[in-house]
Amino acid sequence: MNVDATVLVSDGNAVGGLLAALFGQDMTGTTRVCATCAHVAPLGRHRAYRGAGIVPRCPSCDAVALVVVEEPGGASVTVSGVLRLGAGS
Ligand SMILES: [Zn+2]
Repeated sequence: MNVDATVLVSDGNAVGGLLAALFGQDMTGTTRVCATCAHVAPLGRHRAYRGAGIVPRCPSCDAVALVVVEEPGGASVTVSGVLRLGAGS
């Protein structure tokens, strides 16, 4: 079976709608401080991998930033690092 990897990877902006629904605000401009390398970047610049869930990864070291799993009746979100929410993030 051949799998086109370009279908499975996108930038964080491609999952912006889902993140906005879960967090109640646009998250693509929200900065994240990586727990592994301390790189600071907006979520919209993280590469998002799709599989059993959606997994945005650090644009610097490729560490897992979030794991988003949609489930019947809701979703689970695991966050690694620090998300700076609110104005001036
Ligand atoms: Zn990193």
